[in-house]
Amino acid sequence: MVHYNNCPFCRSEEIRHYLQTSDHFLTKEPFEIYECTGCGTLFTQNHPEKGNSTRYYAADDYISHDDNAPGFVNSIYRISRKIMLRNKKTLVQRLTALKAGRLLDIGSGTGHFISAMKNAGWSVKGVEVNDKARDYSISRFGVDVISQEQISALPTSDFDCITLWHVLEHLHEPFKYVSEIQRLLKPEGICVAALPNCDSYDAHHYREFWAAWDVPRHLWHFNPASFRSFAESKGFTVIRMARMPLDVFYISVLSEKYKKSGFYLINGIIKGPFFACRALFNLSASSSLIYILKKKDQQQGF
Ligand SMILES: [Zn+2]
Repeated sequence: MVHYNNCPFCRSEEIRHYLQTSDHFLTKEPFEIYECTGCGTLFTQNHPEKGNSTRYYAADDYISHDDNAPGFVNSIYRISRKIMLRNKKTLVQRLTALKAGRLLDIGSGTGHFISAMKNAGWSVKGVEVNDKARDYSISRFGVDVISQEQISALPTSDFDCITLWHVLEHLHEPFKYVSEIQRLLKPEGICVAALPNCDSYDAHHYREFWAAWDVPRHLWHFNPASFRSFAESKGFTVIRMARMPLDVFYISVLSEKYKKSGFYLINGIIKGPFFACRALFNLSASSSLIYILKKKDQQQGF
């Protein structure tokens, strides 16, 4: 168990209880979320050690790692993923101003995104901690996917774009990864990080039932201000933010399910568009956000 007496991001001692929630998804174990009043970052207090967290990922239907998971919610997720894959590809091509380049996807899961980029002509590499997902992506898509231990062997300044789609919040060593991203990106390269937003309308509405707390798999819970502060501390600048508009539908349905709403599907499907519409007028309150980062000395021109 990892207990923090100081904020893991800014080292401030000014940390306090923020919310009590549970691992609604799998073990039902309770976990506390703490808030740092210094930098504003929220984090999961007393989370499992890195080597002891496997059992929290053990569900057979853990969608990120299994393409054949049953159930209506998972089907919705897969349809959304298809739409998002196209959006992600367009976003990367637009941001890098490259039709094809070199891409590293950290937390490449079942490999759908790198496969889509490969089909678009990109030279791609994935990093995936889960052996089963890594083997699956290699055999299904013929893509190059390495384990996390192999990142340090990758050559410096080699990538035009590094992506982390809902991955950073899972990493036990976020600083180490961000330093590696700083090393691996070409000087003008961009990093794209998608994260849940703990200051979103849906997060405030669902409170302890908000599905994107996803404790103890999610260790860090950012809002736009705290993520900017983290990125700045590691030599990056957030040059832009964008929405992941479909996430809120999945999150709303799951949150209603965790709340044990009688008609959770209907409730989630009704509330999802409501949160999405409100966030149209306030990007910083979107359920999930895509942060686009550049190295600090390379931000001119944006
Ligand atoms: Zn802090």
